[in-house]
Amino acid sequence: MARYNDAVCRLCRREGMKLYLKGERCFKEKCSFETRKGKLPGQHGAGKLKKPTGYALQLREKQKVKRIYGVLEKQFRLYFQKSDAKKGVTGHNLLGFLESRLDNVVYRLGLAASRAAARQMVMHGHVRVDGKRVDIPSFQTKTGHSIELGERAKINEGVKTSVETAAGRGIPKWLTLDGGAFKGQVIASPTREDITLDINEQLIVELYSK
Ligand code: SF4
Repeated sequence: MARYNDAVCRLCRREGMKLYLKGERCFKEKCSFETRKGKLPGQHGAGKLKKPTGYALQLREKQKVKRIYGVLEKQFRLYFQKSDAKKGVTGHNLLGFLESRLDNVVYRLGLAASRAAARQMVMHGHVRVDGKRVDIPSFQTKTGHSIELGERAKINEGVKTSVETAAGRGIPKWLTLDGGAFKGQVIASPTREDITLDINEQLIVELYSK
């Protein structure tokens, strides 16, 4: 499957906010968004920023959310179509689908340092949902699902460190974690209030509704 393989820090600078794509580094002084604040990536990145048009704002918002969750255009559009067809507020539904992805849940539980690392763990078969191995990162978790790492992942030092540091950052209230057992549970559906990232989902709805 096609994936973005270039330097991910430039994506944060492009979107003008921290997207937390690199795990622990994102919380340290070395974060290049902090060290190169206000500069767009590329040769002319230090130039004057242009005032964005309405369309540009909508496009950037969509790109930002896609990048945060590591979803490509085709799949993102499918999420939008599902969200639009579902009862409720389309933008909230969209974020709900993205938050409920298995790779995101593994990351939110702190079982991986970043969503990219979580995706890799899922794809390599290290994650169990209700005791069964699931290797599809886009798998939609539901209330009641228990998420646990496989035995090999539990003894991985990187995973242990990630759980310890994530505990300090906190777990969203729609999830619970038993860090010692590397096991979590989905106890509710994520709501809009649970997503604290600076996202204006209405701009995405407007973009796709044209
Ligand atoms: Fe973005 Fe993280 Fe890189 Fe900072 S370290 S620029 S938050 S990916």
